[in-house]
Amino acid sequence: MQHAEPWPDPVTHLARLAPDAPVLYFSPDRLQATARAFQAGFPGLVTYAVKANPGEEVLANLVAAGIDAFDVASPAEMHAVRAVSGRAVLHYHNPVRSPAEVAEAAGLGVRAYSVDCAREFDKLCGAVPEGSEISVRLALPVSGAAYDFGAKFGLAPEPAADLLRAVMARGFTPSLTFHPGTQCADPNAWGSYIAAAADVARAAGVRLMRLNVGGGFASHRTGAVPDLAAVFDHIGAQVARQFGTRAPTLVCEPGRAMVAEAFSMAVRVKSVRADGAVFLNDGVYGGLTEIRDIGAPDRIRVIAPDGRDRRGAAIGRVVFGPTCDSIDRLPDPLPLPGDIEEGDHLLIDGMGAYTRSLSTPFNGYGLRDVVTVARL
Ligand SMILES: *Cc1c(COP(=O)(O)O)cnc(C)c1O
Repeated sequence: MQHAEPWPDPVTHLARLAPDAPVLYFSPDRLQATARAFQAGFPGLVTYAVKANPGEEVLANLVAAGIDAFDVASPAEMHAVRAVSGRAVLHYHNPVRSPAEVAEAAGLGVRAYSVDCAREFDKLCGAVPEGSEISVRLALPVSGAAYDFGAKFGLAPEPAADLLRAVMARGFTPSLTFHPGTQCADPNAWGSYIAAAADVARAAGVRLMRLNVGGGFASHRTGAVPDLAAVFDHIGAQVARQFGTRAPTLVCEPGRAMVAEAFSMAVRVKSVRADGAVFLNDGVYGGLTEIRDIGAPDRIRVIAPDGRDRRGAAIGRVVFGPTCDSIDRLPDPLPLPGDIEEGDHLLIDGMGAYTRSLSTPFNGYGLRDVVTVARL
């Protein structure tokens, strides 16, 4: 049920309503503060990768915080942005598009595209506005991310230089882009790409209008808070070193690191088995799906029905999701208190990214409820 005023915090809501379905608690203040920190710290234009969380309240609060450009991958994402802002700039940075998708983007006035092969570039020629910015996507075998995006998209430096020359020759505005891979904590991943981008521009004899350094900035899942300022500084210094006076304007497109901290997620314990295993009302088909790919977060509290934290010594518990599928199980045991009971809630921080957007309605479950809170 929708509450007119925001709830003060997640625990108050949990203790009062004992929600039986999983809930995402959203702090608009937290999201706007993160957006402002990105804009203050990143040495260029900050855009938001919509796929991380396309919720209307996310997009509207980012616009309110001054984010006016968005990285979109599909017409549906373009319409989601248009629903909250008629003026926001759209960067269509999915390098593979059907002709119908290209036509729809052009109809929406999109003037920024990425490409990673001649065939996809040909689809854009004559179909998108003259002079549009075309960013050639570069891929290098770099490590440092939780999973690597270079395996699917992007060109090696030599063919990237050829495509950049073709972009220039057809009268488009030439730029380069890359994406180091998601949950990337190593500043050198950006550093290697920036050095390669400068080489590609030199080899092509092209002055870049912009260099888009992608997303991939790490969110706080386990251990210490990632040092984003160090990544921003490294990017700025490396661009100055590699491009000198011919430095392009920078763009970044964070998804995860922009939205993760703005949401905490509560899931309920449905059953505790005699062997200590726990059944939750959400699992790998819902908001916990990323645990299978990049590991479990350690920012988890267990809240008893009276709102108090369970303090029993942690034991590793097998965790099952709510569906009737046997693969609906977390890959590794999760450390949870010895005194956990049926009806408790797990409250997990930093869960704004790739939770709602990846949740499925399989078996009638899934992550649907969002509750606004004054603080997390
Ligand atoms: C997914 C994606 C992003 C966002 O990645 P995060 O790891 O969530 O920051 C940015 N740009 C492109 C092209 C992407 O595919």
